[in-house]
Amino acid sequence: SNSAPTGEAYLVIGGCGFLGRHIVDALIKRGESNVSVFDIVQRHFDDNITFFTGDLANIEDIAGAIKKSGAKIVIHTASPPHGLAADIYEKVNVVGTHNVIEACQDAGVPKLVYTSSASVIYSGTENLINADERIPYAGVPLDAYNDTKARAEAAVLAANGKDGLLTCALRPSGIFGPGDRQAIMGFHAVVKNGQTKFQIGDNTNLFDWTYVANVAHAHLLAADKLGVTYPVLVLHEPLAPVDLSLG
Ligand code: NAD
Repeated sequence: SNSAPTGEAYLVIGGCGFLGRHIVDALIKRGESNVSVFDIVQRHFDDNITFFTGDLANIEDIAGAIKKSGAKIVIHTASPPHGLAADIYEKVNVVGTHNVIEACQDAGVPKLVYTSSASVIYSGTENLINADERIPYAGVPLDAYNDTKARAEAAVLAANGKDGLLTCALRPSGIFGPGDRQAIMGFHAVVKNGQTKFQIGDNTNLFDWTYVANVAHAHLLAADKLGVTYPVLVLHEPLAPVDLSLG
């Protein structure tokens, strides 16, 4: 269910991407009237949205957009896709995310929500079952993408409470739904190339997928609730395991 509009100014970084566009849609749908997008390319057009085109890795680009948008809530969901050279992740995820943090603090932005990834705690060697935020980052990261997502996330979390900025990070696992630019194309490619005769582990492995509109909704909730204090809930025991077996 959609919450009521806050009337605040929002900037969605990566707002022309798969998830970013669903976040923008969710904001517009709940009646927000002040929504801006920052992206390196413009892929959709809407008179109700202010678009800024620029490169996150360039501090002037992102600082200018944050100032001009007047954003009180910045949602940072930009990242290069999987499968590129290591230096592009370093530039966009690490340098770019530091730029976002610095620009938010300079402009007096009160809230920053970052899209991290579930794989920041996955090294590819052990199963993660009922994993939560108490699990440390992977000692040996899976690849440059995951390494830089983890370091970007750590920088965002370390900035929480500094210079008037509140931050949080969300770690989606696989995301599916309309506008996906990676998963379905990958599935098609393995079928087309006849690469379907493989088995992972004993063939009972599970992987989490979340519908994109639900991931977008989680970002709105995170932005809404950031800074709201609840009674502290201390979990002494791990949550009871959930039986996910099929059939
Ligand atoms: P996407 O590629 O569809 O969207 C990313 C957007 O960022 C694109 O519009 C792209 O143009 C923009 N961008 C890239 N480099 C930029 C730069 N230098 N400056 C400005 N904009 C730039 O990807 P997505 O699937 O929507 O992923 C969104 C976020 O969610 C990413 O941070 C990703 O790491 C994270 N994530 C995605 C998945 C998934 O399954 N898709 C899973 C876990 C986490």
